[in-house]
Amino acid sequence: MTHPSSPVHALPLECPACGATSEHRVLHVTAYRAGALLSGIARCSACKHSHPFEVRTRTIPIRVVLSQGPNSRRQSMSFPPEHRFVIGEVLEIEGGTARVSRIETQQDTTPHSALASRIRTLWATVEGKARVKISLSSGAQTIPLTVEMDPEVVLRVGARLAVAGRPLIIYGLRVGMWTQTEEGYEAPAAKVVRVYARSARTPPPGSID
Ligand SMILES: [Zn+2]
Repeated sequence: MTHPSSPVHALPLECPACGATSEHRVLHVTAYRAGALLSGIARCSACKHSHPFEVRTRTIPIRVVLSQGPNSRRQSMSFPPEHRFVIGEVLEIEGGTARVSRIETQQDTTPHSALASRIRTLWATVEGKARVKISLSSGAQTIPLTVEMDPEVVLRVGARLAVAGRPLIIYGLRVGMWTQTEEGYEAPAAKVVRVYARSARTPPPGSID
């Protein structure tokens, strides 16, 4: 009996054992159709539990060259084909973050941005500090902020976060492809793609706190 092989070796999944949306290593593939379906057994990086999974979200593998000081290493990361990469964008990687430094496509060797589906190779530089993007809701406006923090700092939905002396309340965390809004959901800063926050001083109408 032969098993289908898939170029996706790791992907973010919700874990039925610990409830976290964490990076999972694909241990065994039972079905694979490029850009349509991937199912099998995966292991949660948070609690090490192995469980069946099925992903119908379209993702494609992207070849990423990560450089850190004088060293570089290659790895494959999965992204939706419609994701647009931009120079300077922060990627979450195992144990930290990396900043996109160069994009190469089939047509153009140095575009400023490109769709994942067009990318041949992505270069990124590993960062010491996690750079966390924050979308601050302020009335009808959303203010984009970026803060640096230690990668192991734990961010939690419902918790306060002080940014430049402003007390904010976290109401959502995007980790991998998912946004979690459940009170108490937490993740290390290194894994957080975006924080959704509002000012602690101006609760929206109808808020409980
Ligand atoms: Zn788990």
